[in-house]
Amino acid sequence: MSSFTDYKIDADIQKAIVDMGFTQPSEIQAQALPILLDYQGDFVGQAQTGTGKTAAYGIPLVQKINKNAQGVQAIILSPTRELAVQISEELIKISKYKRLKVLAVYGGQNIGVQLRALKQGVHIVVGTPGRVVDHLHRQSLNLGQIQNFILDEADEMLDMGFLEEIEEILSNVGKQRSIWLFSATLSNDIRRIANRFMTDPEEIRVQHKTATIANTEEIYYAVKEYNKFEALCRLIDHAPGMYAIIFCQTRNQTADIAEKLVAKGFKAEALHGDMNQSQREHVMGKFKKKGLTLLVATDVAARGIDINDLTHVINYSLPQESESYIHRIGRTGRAGKTGIAITLITPEEQYKLRRLEGNTRKKITKSRIPGIEEIMESYIDRTIGEFEAAIENPGGFDRYFSRWQPLVKKYTPEEITKGFVTLLSREILEKYEDDKELNAPDNFGQRSGFREKRTFSDNMVELSINVGQRDNLQTGTLIGKICNLAGVDGRQIGKVYIQDNQTQFKVDAEVADAVVRKLTGIKISGKTVTVEHADAKFRNLKKVMEKKFTGRRDSPDHFDKRKRFSK
Ligand code: ADP
Ligand code: MG
Repeated sequence: MSSFTDYKIDADIQKAIVDMGFTQPSEIQAQALPILLDYQGDFVGQAQTGTGKTAAYGIPLVQKINKNAQGVQAIILSPTRELAVQISEELIKISKYKRLKVLAVYGGQNIGVQLRALKQGVHIVVGTPGRVVDHLHRQSLNLGQIQNFILDEADEMLDMGFLEEIEEILSNVGKQRSIWLFSATLSNDIRRIANRFMTDPEEIRVQHKTATIANTEEIYYAVKEYNKFEALCRLIDHAPGMYAIIFCQTRNQTADIAEKLVAKGFKAEALHGDMNQSQREHVMGKFKKKGLTLLVATDVAARGIDINDLTHVINYSLPQESESYIHRIGRTGRAGKTGIAITLITPEEQYKLRRLEGNTRKKITKSRIPGIEEIMESYIDRTIGEFEAAIENPGGFDRYFSRWQPLVKKYTPEEITKGFVTLLSREILEKYEDDKELNAPDNFGQRSGFREKRTFSDNMVELSINVGQRDNLQTGTLIGKICNLAGVDGRQIGKVYIQDNQTQFKVDAEVADAVVRKLTGIKISGKTVTVEHADAKFRNLKKVMEKKFTGRRDSPDHFDKRKRFSK
């Protein structure tokens, strides 16, 4: 095991590292530090999320900066504003004693603040590609002195469609610079960037060492606390034949959730420490025989359970310790079968997830809570299968057929089908009063108590889609789709105007292209979505209006012009 003192890191930075509470370098740090601390060339580093890539380049970068030189010496590009803020905070901590000026620039923050700070001079700029391009166009950012160009979370940046911006920014940087690229994955697209812009990069790849079970798919959903129960019901109804333990934090919560699940018609029961031995054994026995398919339990109560062929493990809330997360999810995905581990997370808790990913060395994939239509589709597919199986194998119920016979004379096959479908579907639909959007907008990387106000970007673009009130579109549904599909932060979306046949909404200019690309062609309420820049529409409209006004003496435009000309 190495320690930070094994590396040629300046004393003031060593001191800052101690303050940050880092005692041992992570693997990517241990491998990257010796190279980057004394290096002028290009570099590619790959390691999973949560493995400390920021400090792996941050420490050598801070060390390299000449505090007394003029001009921005390093620029770091990052895919989202949250990450940009997070990176700049980490760099500020690393350079605490060296006292470097680090500035985060991103869409959504008033550009004036950024302009003033840039004027006063900064050593390191951390920015989202769109906003950096903006500053280049305004000539408020000069990249002539850049020595280090860092692409962080390069895979996400490409996923969000920032390639052009990256190219434009690079073309503004002189040739005397090193490019360092960090990414959780190295796709062919990233290789292509490396080949195109870098010269013989050194490459470090840290292999995944997973603490959790390889056969378990780990998924999380971002939902507000008050939507959690409904989200749980939808997930159960969406998955065919779920056989699961649902983990809760407290005894009261297990009892409460189990009771509510039963009320919704699920076969659920609680298992907690307040129950006596025989009660517990009774519940366990039922669960083993699958007379009960959902067991709602606390960590402690579940400890002695020897059931391992679960289809799902559900973390109704995030466990306090990574250890207990690993234990919980180890109950599924055994013996060559694939299991699914689901974790419900409130937006405020998302930063904890990254820590968990770091500890388990495995990525937990984000997914979205299905809407009622999707649940119905999967339910119908399942029931049709069961229906056909029942026709082929009536299993002793033949003796009741004669009682149904009159129906066959009275109705057509279509009518009979209709009746069955209604009867069967009602069971599902009655559980859900409305198809509200349960997916909470992302605020990854934000800490509670550190939340920014929802400020709309000063650089918004208006888009328009062909879905509206007539299609029952809800604002939440649309925002959820944009956030999840285009990887956009909720605060990058402005006002939404739902009209009869179409909807206008504003998004941060930085992500507009990604939104257009990701929304085009998807289905909302059965309609194939097309997206247009509303600005273009608006401009055309404005032209028509202007034409109408020409020649009219009382037009406000004319009035203005006259005034201006008379000066
Ligand atoms: P990545 O960029 O690889 O996803 P981050 O750089 O965001 O990971 O680091 C994840 C978390 O781990 C951060 O909270 C960071 O402060 C912390 N961290 C990084 N390096 C160390 C270390 N050597 N010791 C302890 N914590 C660390
Ligand atoms: Mg990172």
